[in-house]
Amino acid sequence: MLRLFFVIFLIFFFECSGNDVQLFEKTRIVMDTLVSITIYAKQEPEDWQQHVEQAFETMQRIEDLATSFNDSSEVGQLNLNAGHRGISVHKDVLEIIKQAQEVGENSDGAFDVTVLPLLRLWNFKSSNPRVPTQDEVLEKRGLVDFRRIVINDNNVFLPEVNMGMDLGAIAKGYAVDKAVEVLEKYDYKNFMVEAGGDLRAIAGELTRGQRTIWVRHPRKVAGFFAKIKMDEGAVASSGDYERFFEVSGKRFHHIVNPKTGYPASPVVSVTIFSETTVLADAYATAVFVLGPEKGLDFIEKLPETEGLIVYQKEIDSDLILDWKVSKGIARDLEIFNQKGNL
Ligand code: ADP
Ligand code: MG
Repeated sequence: MLRLFFVIFLIFFFECSGNDVQLFEKTRIVMDTLVSITIYAKQEPEDWQQHVEQAFETMQRIEDLATSFNDSSEVGQLNLNAGHRGISVHKDVLEIIKQAQEVGENSDGAFDVTVLPLLRLWNFKSSNPRVPTQDEVLEKRGLVDFRRIVINDNNVFLPEVNMGMDLGAIAKGYAVDKAVEVLEKYDYKNFMVEAGGDLRAIAGELTRGQRTIWVRHPRKVAGFFAKIKMDEGAVASSGDYERFFEVSGKRFHHIVNPKTGYPASPVVSVTIFSETTVLADAYATAVFVLGPEKGLDFIEKLPETEGLIVYQKEIDSDLILDWKVSKGIARDLEIFNQKGNL
């Protein structure tokens, strides 16, 4: 029996075993992260490399439209013209913004794609991020409110100068779903698309019942925190270990609570299982901000959605890791970590 193991961006192991199953895989950097597409088949599928290239190109096209790091992208234009005029956007960008608004509403503003003024202030992505002053945070916080985004048909407008949109918490998930659509069009039945912690698996006869997702440990470089069987569906993760800086031993990471303007705490990682990657991606960020209690309530109310929340807790002035898991996967999820000092 053939047994295959994959390490994916150190976040998931993906395991598949079966008779005669071969793996056809390509990897590329898209959206600032390593993306891999894997097809499982008994023989080499005709033209698979071209099909996978098309899927990558689709993801790249979405990045080019949706990035906020380039003034010439549609979102870049939208931000540049904030307070002045609206921009006509591609239907993919419109769809991402609409999904983001919905998750924003559902999460009572914990998820908010107009968080860009705060992100700029902290400058997490640069080589010299910094802790801003309280006054700066207060000022920028006033510019954050997704409910103020004005949409008329395909025209999107941010009504105040210095408002800004960043789709970094949702666009990657959307792009994974679009890559999946490309491969489904070519009739592939067993494959997966993985992009830096966002993953979607399609399971046919060859792979059903044989896959395990391993959730990365948020504090151990090569360790795992939990594992769960998963045949088909989407998984996304958000963690404070993805992008952060430290000042005097305190960690400042890239997921900001729009209500406070500061990095959200006490969650350190969230893993969400849902039907589509776009929703799993956005929900993971929303739950991170909501925190363990509200975050778990949020997950339990969502259809077809499950999750694992790992957070820090202080006991007798020691910080320990604790976790909460939604009812639907509580019995299937195997946790390796024992409660203990960090
Ligand atoms: P990753 O990018 O590591 O996969 P996420 O999906 O959680 O993690 O996205 C984090 C990104 O989302 C940040 O880098 C930032 O661009 C954006 N972001 C930060 N805080 C929020 C928030 N409260 N709501 C929406 N987007 C956010
Ligand atoms: Mg996200």
